[in-house]
Amino acid sequence: MGARKVSIFGSTGSIGCQALQCIAAAPEQFSVEVLTAHHNYQLLAEQAVSCHARQVVISNEAHYQALKDLLIGSGIVVHAGRQALIDAGQISVDLALHAIVGAAGLEPVFASLSYAKMIGLANKETLVCAGRLLMQEAEKVGAKILPVDSEHTAVIQCLEAENHDAVHRIGITASGGPFWFHTQEQLQKVKREEALKHPNFSMGAKITVDSATLMNKSFELIESVYLYDVPQEKVEVVIHPEQVLHGYVQYVDGITMAQMSVPDMLSVIGDILHWPKRPAVAVEPLNMMALNDLTFFPQDDKRFPALKLARDVIEQGGIAPLYFNVANEVAVEHFLQDKLHFLGIVNTVDAVLQALPTQKKITTASDIKMHLEEARRFSEKMILRYSMNAA
Ligand code: NAD
Ligand code: MG
Repeated sequence: MGARKVSIFGSTGSIGCQALQCIAAAPEQFSVEVLTAHHNYQLLAEQAVSCHARQVVISNEAHYQALKDLLIGSGIVVHAGRQALIDAGQISVDLALHAIVGAAGLEPVFASLSYAKMIGLANKETLVCAGRLLMQEAEKVGAKILPVDSEHTAVIQCLEAENHDAVHRIGITASGGPFWFHTQEQLQKVKREEALKHPNFSMGAKITVDSATLMNKSFELIESVYLYDVPQEKVEVVIHPEQVLHGYVQYVDGITMAQMSVPDMLSVIGDILHWPKRPAVAVEPLNMMALNDLTFFPQDDKRFPALKLARDVIEQGGIAPLYFNVANEVAVEHFLQDKLHFLGIVNTVDAVLQALPTQKKITTASDIKMHLEEARRFSEKMILRYSMNAA
C-alpha cells in the first residue's frame, strides 16, 4: 500500500500540530496534500516545508502575500481566502483531518465529504450543528467519519460492530474542568485566566473554556447521539477528574468495555491517522499500580447546567443544536474579551434557546452558512443582556 494521502484543516492549532508530529514520526506512511490555517502564516509555512505539503491555504487573505514570500521557490502552491479553504476540501485524499475550531469548520467538512475516504473529525462543532445531516451525507457517499476526541475514540474502540444491538449504555467521562470543586459563589468570581488553565490538557482557548463550563462535554453528548445513532438517555456522562478512563460501552450481558490511557491527545490523533492500525506513539502505557485513587461523580445540573441544556436541545432537534453551538461560540468570544462573566456563558446559551425564533430544520448542506449567520446575529443580540457593559 502506498502512502496515505492526508489533508489537515487547521494545521497550526493544538490538534493540527500534534497530527504533524505523528506524521513526522512515520513520514514514509503519509503524503500531505493540503495544510490550512487562519492567522499564523509563519508556522503554516514552516509546517508545509517540513512535511513537504503540496498546497497551503491561509483563510485570512490579509496574510496571502507574506505567506507567498515565505514559500518562494518551495514549489508549494499557495491559496488564500474562505472560498479557497472550502475548495481545498475537494482535493481527493484518504483522510481529511478537520481541526479548525468552531463553526468556521463546518463548510470545509461538508466540502470534503465526497473527496475523502475518511474524515478525522476534531471539529466537533460540525456534529453538534448538523450531526444528522452529516451522518446521512457521509453514508450516501461512503465516507467514514472518525471522531478525533479522546472520549469518542474510546467509545468507537469499545463498540463491537457485531454486538451493536446489545448495547445497553454508552458512557463518556469529563474532567469537570478547573472548577468542578467550586461552589456556586466561587463560580461567580471566575476569571478568564483561571478558565484558560485545563487540569490535564493543553488545548486551544475555546475548547479550554468549553471544558470549564462543561459545554465541551455537552457537545460530546450531542456528538454521541449522531455518531452512534442512540437516544440521549442511553448516553451517560460521568465526571472523572483524573481523566484516565475516557469512554465505555455497557452491554446487556452486564459487561462494560472501557478504554483507558494517560490523558494525551497524541494517542488519539495517532490512532485516527493510522486507522484502523495502532501506531507506536510516544505516550507511556498506564501504570496500573498508580491507579488507586480514581474518582467518578454524577453530573451536577445546578452548578453546571450545560449538560441539561444539551439534553433538551437534542430532544428539540432541528435547528436547536446549531443555535446551542453558535450561542456558545459568541458567548465564549465575549468572555475571552472580558465582556461577559463566566456564568454568563451558559446563561446566554440558555436565553438564546428560550427565545429560539422558529423550529426550522437543516435540510441541505448549502443552507448551513445561512443558518450559522442567522444564529450568530441572533446570539449577538441576546448576549447584550448578560454583557458586563449592559446597563
Ligand atoms: P486551536 O485554537 O488550537 O486551533 C484552531 C485551528 O483552526 C488553527 O489552525 C486556526 O488557524 C484554525 N482556525 C481558527 N479560526 C479559523 C477560521 N475562522 N477559519 C479557518 N480556520 C480557522 O484549536 P484546537 O484546540 O486544536 O481545537 C480544534 C478542534 O478540535 C476544536 O473543534 C476542538 O473542539 C477539537 N478538539 C480539540 C482537542 C484538543 O486537545 N485541543 C481535543 C478534542 C477535540
Ligand atoms: Mg473530548
